[in-house]
Amino acid sequence: GWRSRAAFKLIEIDDKLKLLKPGQRIVDLGAAPGGWLQVAAKRIGLERGLGKIVGIDLLAVDPIAGVEFIQGDFTADDAPDRLKALLGGEADVVLSDMAANAMGHKQTDHMKIIYLAELAIHFAREVLAPGGHFLCKVLQGGTEGQLLADLKRDFATVKHIKPQASRADSSELYVLAMGFRGRPADPQE
Ligand code: SAM
Repeated sequence: GWRSRAAFKLIEIDDKLKLLKPGQRIVDLGAAPGGWLQVAAKRIGLERGLGKIVGIDLLAVDPIAGVEFIQGDFTADDAPDRLKALLGGEADVVLSDMAANAMGHKQTDHMKIIYLAELAIHFAREVLAPGGHFLCKVLQGGTEGQLLADLKRDFATVKHIKPQASRADSSELYVLAMGFRGRPADPQE
């Protein structure tokens, strides 16, 4: 079975928008307890030796065959480089379901999740291969202002998704940016 209710959200998003494909290289930010890792592993064919998955979380994750995992803080200075070293190349998909423990103070919670999303976007722009995808948890209202402008500049399509598996009363929402245009310095650009 799936380790988290969150697994059903990724299944639903992927069934509809087809971001996961056999052989892809994936980074999963905020991966514990590992539901998304399980779904991604299945859909990229990791058990058949296809693709690669690297995850990070503050919390431990019970091992999943073939998945490389770092227990640590993604906001730590050395976290992006540690992930890149494990990945050993570009990523096709960057997933982030990161959420800080809710403090119950709406504005603070909102600022924290936007900060995590900004760091995730920055990381995605550094590691994604051209054509790659970025899926990230954000809050109601979605990505706004600079965050949205950055995504629209760097990806062919950007949309917000509220999966059915996400409780109606929760203010969480996902942003899916598909078709990374590549870094300006990339020779193929
Ligand atoms: N997608 C996961 C699954 O399917 O099992 C569920 C992820 S859960 C909603 C959010 C996770 O983000 C938590 O496990 C939390 O520890 C992690 N998280 C929050 N802040 C983080 C940070 N700074 N670095 C790493 N992980 C973080």
